[in-house]
Amino acid sequence: MSTTTSRIVIIGAGVAGIAAGAMLRRKGIEDFLILERGDQFGGVWRDNIYPGVECDVQSHLYSYSFRPNDWSKTYAGGREIFDYLNEVAKEEKLTEHALFGHAVSEMCWQEASGSWVIETNRGRFESKFLVTATGSLSEPQLLDIDGLSDFAGRIVHSAVWDPDMDVAGRNVALVGTGASAIQLAPAIADRVDDLTIFQRTPPWVAPRVDVEYSAAQRRMWRELPETLHDYRQFLFWFQESRFPERVRVQQAIERMTNIADSHRTSQIQDPKLLEITRPHYEIGCKRILLSNTWYPTLQRDNVTLVPHAATALTRDAVVAANGDAHEADFLILCSGFDTVGLPVARLIYGENGVRLADSWSGGVHAYGGMAVNGFPNLFLIGGPNVGLGFGSMFFMIETQAEYLAQAMQTALTCEVDKLRVRPERESEFVQFIDERAANTVWLTGGCDSFYIADGTGHLSTLWPDFMTRYRTDFQVFDPADYVYA
Ligand SMILES: Cc1cc2nc3c(=O)[nH]c(=O)nc-3n(C[C@H](O)[C@H](O)[C@H](O)COP(=O)(O)OP(=O)(O)OC[C@H]3O[C@@H](n4cnc5c(N)ncnc54)[C@H](O)[C@@H]3O)c2cc1C
Repeated sequence: MSTTTSRIVIIGAGVAGIAAGAMLRRKGIEDFLILERGDQFGGVWRDNIYPGVECDVQSHLYSYSFRPNDWSKTYAGGREIFDYLNEVAKEEKLTEHALFGHAVSEMCWQEASGSWVIETNRGRFESKFLVTATGSLSEPQLLDIDGLSDFAGRIVHSAVWDPDMDVAGRNVALVGTGASAIQLAPAIADRVDDLTIFQRTPPWVAPRVDVEYSAAQRRMWRELPETLHDYRQFLFWFQESRFPERVRVQQAIERMTNIADSHRTSQIQDPKLLEITRPHYEIGCKRILLSNTWYPTLQRDNVTLVPHAATALTRDAVVAANGDAHEADFLILCSGFDTVGLPVARLIYGENGVRLADSWSGGVHAYGGMAVNGFPNLFLIGGPNVGLGFGSMFFMIETQAEYLAQAMQTALTCEVDKLRVRPERESEFVQFIDERAANTVWLTGGCDSFYIADGTGHLSTLWPDFMTRYRTDFQVFDPADYVYA
């Protein structure tokens, strides 16, 4: 079997893969490939096309700093974000570097050659450096409940929505009350016959200040780019100012709790619905959802909120944890994503054949969220401890992409073929994360969330500090943190 070689291979063509490619090219590095299992750029914005899909960070912030956009409204819809990402990839000339329809099944470090061998459904690749940009929300989590195969109706996960599917006139059951569910339910409620929503945990929901930008506003931002820059800066510092809510600054928590509480109590009149929508954990422990249409949807005549998890399916019904069966002929799963560790870690084998997922059995960690001892020449973009409970992932991803490009430039300039993170630097970083995380609402707020690695109590997904702290610490690649060969 022939092997395609490239100095650098990036896996994934979402926000992170595009950022990594763009930063490499801006440093004059052209010897790289992007392997993507999908058929276009876009990542989650290519895959999540369910009705009502939108971002929940203001679009002027949820976009690349190096490529502002003429967004139509505060929180752009999924299609607008997808188009934006594809335009950026084209402008950055990444199409020539991308190989679509390439699903990576295994990545193995070869000590003898000092390179990575990457197996895909369309052949083998070999590279000196490997970059994963595979996302943490790219593997839909299916429900693990009894009777899945007994259900006679259609079952679909929100992340694999079929646009030709019609829910009009159907008796729909929807499982979940997270970020996708609260967008999807209001978007279909007026078309379906009945909608029954299964809720395990009531979410905190805050008002969504979402406006269509006027022609004059958009013209101003286009023609006076400094005004757009200022607006982005305003949005950034607004998001940054939300961090104290997550570290138990009482005033900040009370303020946010009051906003969300009055949103709920002003939108709901029915005492029973008020009771079952009241969250039982501290605000911010899970992502705070933004919607003005969620609570009104729950009060429609054709909508029922079941305050229990779905636990089983029969031929024509969904059974709730309290034993009640609710008839349905169409089941929508908004059951989230497989976020145990980082899914791609199950496919990566480093020094001595050790699998990355196994090396993380005591807790997911990486220096700067990017480099792991025992896995030379591997960089993770959008990996552990860089997710945000507030703010825009573009900020974190861009910081990492710039760091990666500097590392690759250093390796080229100094003719270095092997970069290995110093174990003590990784341990210090893990200690920093654990210390900073200890007092955050994510660990102490009384909720179960995918932010915490299973059974370890270690905050594995989120960055437990101000976003600016991450940029200060990782905007410059420091060769002293690595051992070379
Ligand atoms: C519906 C939805 C809404 C969101 N809204 C927001 C928001 O408003 N604000 C925010 O900050 N974040 C949001 N997020 C989080 C989002 O994941 C990040 O913002 C960002 O898009 C992540 O980009 P990424 O490139 O790291 O990952 P992804 O977008 O997941 O891209 C990963 C890519 O890797 C590919 N891939 C994965 N495994 C393989 C493999 N084995 N072989 C080949 N290719 C592979 C995938 O096909 C995909 O194209 C949202 C996520 C979802 C699902």
